[in-house]
Amino acid sequence: MSERPRFVWPAAGNDMGEPTVIVTKRGEERVASGHPWIYRSDIAKEDAAPGAIVRVAGPKGRPLGFAFYSSTSEIRLRMIERRRALQESFLADRIAAAVTWRERIAEGADACRLVHGEADGIPSLIVDRYGDVLVMQTLSQATEHLKPQIIDILVRTLHPKGIVERNDPKVRQLEGLERAVELVWGEVPDTLVVSEGTVKLNVDVRQGQKTGLFLDQRENHLATRNYARGRVLDAFCYDGGFALQAAQVSEEVTAVDISAAPLGRLQANAELNGLTIRTQEANAFDLLHELDTQSEQFDTVILDPPAFAKNKQSIPKAARGYKEINLRALKILRPGGILITCSCSYHIHEADFEALLESAARDACVAVSVIEKRRQARDHPVLLAVPETYYLKCLILRRL
Ligand code: SAH
Repeated sequence: MSERPRFVWPAAGNDMGEPTVIVTKRGEERVASGHPWIYRSDIAKEDAAPGAIVRVAGPKGRPLGFAFYSSTSEIRLRMIERRRALQESFLADRIAAAVTWRERIAEGADACRLVHGEADGIPSLIVDRYGDVLVMQTLSQATEHLKPQIIDILVRTLHPKGIVERNDPKVRQLEGLERAVELVWGEVPDTLVVSEGTVKLNVDVRQGQKTGLFLDQRENHLATRNYARGRVLDAFCYDGGFALQAAQVSEEVTAVDISAAPLGRLQANAELNGLTIRTQEANAFDLLHELDTQSEQFDTVILDPPAFAKNKQSIPKAARGYKEINLRALKILRPGGILITCSCSYHIHEADFEALLESAARDACVAVSVIEKRRQARDHPVLLAVPETYYLKCLILRRL
């Protein structure tokens, strides 16, 4: 890896003349805390081009490091280095380190996240692998600006067949960037097949949720095999991440989603794997209530709803929603049955989620034991200094 610093603090011989952004005292403390985001309100002086790599200095001129600058977002700076020098090759180095780490923790995974933004030292860059295809997201002005270099590094080091940019997330608008889904290199078919453990999945990287699949659930999908059995209900199934794993090890799986399109894809996936899954288009809230009223019983229930709490204001309502579905799920579980229950709302923290599960169990008059406390797959790392990076909780509970 590289040698020659491209950016140096303070200005030295090979100074490339990066602009400097001055932060306030509070901004300086924020940098010291290790959180990479510095908000507009903590900026004292900014004079930089949109998407530039800038030096960051404290109110008294103390060098604080380097950051990606954004001219429109509330998040003005995303720190990339808190030391005095930034290597010329920092992008290539960090992508290489992220990929090497995945080779250890996602060994053999056909589809996984290779670069997870801040948690891999490249804020606002996402790179996912689906077999020999890559999908990237450049979610700030800086990574958008660096896109040609990023593509070049990915092509040179990973030799993909093709790269698609999945730049449709709304956050791009906060950066003043267009939303776009484009082929940026090579060739990418409309549908490709990847495997997750022993399950094969059809993926449409242009239109599927996120970049194609819920890769953050990969390890939880695989863990499901250890517990699912008997009669299984997957109440928010999408295209079958959990249901297909469960179907390989249990007698009967019912997969429910409020939307018909993913159920069609789930059936195609089931066929691809030679599995039988019963699908049902329904609102899980109504269905769980109905199953409870009819005293139906299951051996395994899986709950992986969309984020109910998208912001702080919606926390109370979201908490009621989570409690409701978990309460019903516990009531339709046979003694000895397993509940695999997830929340991907960052705003509902792990302790809150556990508290509402406890309250659901109390109301259902059942005792449950905690078999596993899981989270997002390890290729979506959690940064200790950045609570926002821990968003997905997955508890595996057993009804006594
Ligand atoms: N478990 C899936 C991902 C689920 S995403 C996996 O791991 O691959 C959440 C799904 O819940 C979406 O497919 C969405 O259509 C569905 N959904 C949202 N609200 C719902 C509701 N009220 N009832 C049933 N499904 C719902």
